[in-house]
Amino acid sequence: MSFFQNLNTHTLKTTRAFKNPHAQDAYLQNELSESRSAAYPSYSSHNKIRSYAEQSLGSDSALQQAVKLPRDESLQEWYAVHVVDFYNQLNMLYGSITEFCSPETCPRMLATQEYEYLWQDPPANSKPYPLPAPQYIEKLMSWCQQNFDDENVFPAKMGQPFPSSFDTLVKTMFKRLFRVYAHIYCHHFDEIRELGLGSHLNTSLKHFVVFVEEFGLIKSRDYGPLEELCKGMLGQM
Ligand SMILES: [Zn+2]
Repeated sequence: MSFFQNLNTHTLKTTRAFKNPHAQDAYLQNELSESRSAAYPSYSSHNKIRSYAEQSLGSDSALQQAVKLPRDESLQEWYAVHVVDFYNQLNMLYGSITEFCSPETCPRMLATQEYEYLWQDPPANSKPYPLPAPQYIEKLMSWCQQNFDDENVFPAKMGQPFPSSFDTLVKTMFKRLFRVYAHIYCHHFDEIRELGLGSHLNTSLKHFVVFVEEFGLIKSRDYGPLEELCKGMLGQM
């Protein structure tokens, strides 16, 4: 099974799932549906909370407004919906360029030659170790998926309590997911642009950055080589 198919299988197991293409992120969906990456639907079962987030993602000021925690909404639920959403977006975006990202083209998980991301999966491997980019990303997406599927971590029903470790886990998820943006931007942006997905990648990253900045979920230094780009995106708003 290819990585592409494998990710799709993982996505189908996502607990926050429904198969309604009309509820997908409008700004990603329109053109992605006409691209090769349309094989990846986006999923979430919490329609109400998602539709709130999606009401007006069309403009920058609306984007800033849309990431704010709705009144009477659980912060953990808000994190959960968004981390699944960004996972889905990256799944689609990276899925569209997997043929260009192989152990031969990308033998290390780099973002420029200055930043290398090491994988760590304790207790099996407590020491961080290097991996080819596609393997790193596969491990990362599988790790996310395992957490999404674990009801003790991501409760399937609205109103069920989240574990006390949830905030820490979610921060690690955002930090790690960001590395996929960094790898795509630094090593596959030409391919993304040739596929006509450049603006989708930018919109997705901007949404991500606005969200993590709103809640202080990742540190500035975690932006690595994209720090200037990310700060610029925020500055333009
Ligand atoms: Zn690559």
